[in-house]
Amino acid sequence: MLTFTPGQDGYETEIAGFQTGVPSRPRLVVGATNTGDVAEGVRYAAEHGLPVSVQATGHGLREPATGVLISTRRMTGVSIDPARAVARVEAGATWGAVIEAAAGHGLAPLSGSAPGVGVVGYTLGGGFSLMGRRHGLAADHVAAAESVAPDGTLGTGLDGVVTSLEFGLFPVTTLYGGALSFTTQETALRAWRDWTADLPDALTTSLALVPYPDLPMIPKPLRGKHIAQIRVAYLGSPEEGERLVAPLRALGPVMDTLTTLPFTKSGTIAAEPPNPHAYVGDNRTLSTLSEESVDAILTTTDAPVVQILDLLGGAYAPGRHLAPNSRYAVRALSDPADTSGQEKLFEAFGPDTTGRLSSFVYGQPL
Ligand SMILES: Cc1cc2nc3c(=O)[nH]c(=O)nc-3n(C[C@H](O)[C@H](O)[C@H](O)COP(=O)(O)OP(=O)(O)OC[C@H]3O[C@@H](n4cnc5c(N)ncnc54)[C@H](O)[C@@H]3O)c2cc1C
Repeated sequence: MLTFTPGQDGYETEIAGFQTGVPSRPRLVVGATNTGDVAEGVRYAAEHGLPVSVQATGHGLREPATGVLISTRRMTGVSIDPARAVARVEAGATWGAVIEAAAGHGLAPLSGSAPGVGVVGYTLGGGFSLMGRRHGLAADHVAAAESVAPDGTLGTGLDGVVTSLEFGLFPVTTLYGGALSFTTQETALRAWRDWTADLPDALTTSLALVPYPDLPMIPKPLRGKHIAQIRVAYLGSPEEGERLVAPLRALGPVMDTLTTLPFTKSGTIAAEPPNPHAYVGDNRTLSTLSEESVDAILTTTDAPVVQILDLLGGAYAPGRHLAPNSRYAVRALSDPADTSGQEKLFEAFGPDTTGRLSSFVYGQPL
């Protein structure tokens, strides 16, 4: 078993993750390579009265790790059972690895916008995928799990530290997907709201309001502009997809990446930045996008906040991860130095608010 303590070679590398704004300083890091290592680390924590934290990729860190950090980054095994259409992953596997492995069998998982995200952390938060309105939450398709309870004993639930997961895959090889980017935020937001009133479940969509920096790696039409980007993942035919997006295309996007994509390229739909950075994030689910909420979202574009609106509904069933009557989610991501924009935004939603998704809370306690 690999272990690291503060000051030791490898400690800083081991605690580094995608989210750089959470100043973890665990007393001990266990670089786990198997379930036995995880159990030993958890038992050590119990014996010494230390809290246990888990980190795979570091995309979803909330509070700093202070006690024993179980690092699962080495537990990256992925195997596919094509006969059952099931994937089995170890605790540190990312969606990118599952997408690649499943594609070899004509299958695809309920992965999300970014292939670098860890499968286990994502699924424990529910899992809002590119096929979510058709197939529901990733958590609803878990077939089996192995875990280590807080006293170090092995179990098969989703409590404690999960060491492996088995979950269902779907016979999908391509998507009609991509993004339409607009510089006219109000027009795009109102059009998206109206458009989402009546869409088939086979279409999953988000609208991102992104203040793009003026940097050479940003596509020219987006560079230095506050962009409204409508993201689409559709499981029907490309012809039907074209027909569905026609009213949005008619608004004249400055960039249009909609096309038939192999599922292995599904990360290009949102094209989120793959480089580690610091962020604070929160969200609310809403029953509707009232005029008051639309106004609050548009006012927030004056602040340096990324806002992402997701259409829910379809096969998303209310339960542990999702409050009843939730039609939209509005997520906000801010610089840790100034979160006032997102605080005002959530206050303004008032009676539209139905709940909060744990998956999209970053850099702060739940
Ligand atoms: C760029 C980006 C895109 C995203 N896109 C989506 C999306 O499309 N859909 C969606 O639903 N979510 C999305 N998320 C949210 C993401 O699913 C959560 O942040 C998730 O917790 C990340 O898991 P991780 O393992 O990558 O991150 P980590 O920070 O390593 O883990 C996050 C937390 O998950 C828990 N955890 C991780 N592994 C284990 C384990 N083995 N046992 C027990 N607990 C564990 C721990 O509490 C840990 O603190 C996105 C996040 C980012 C930053």
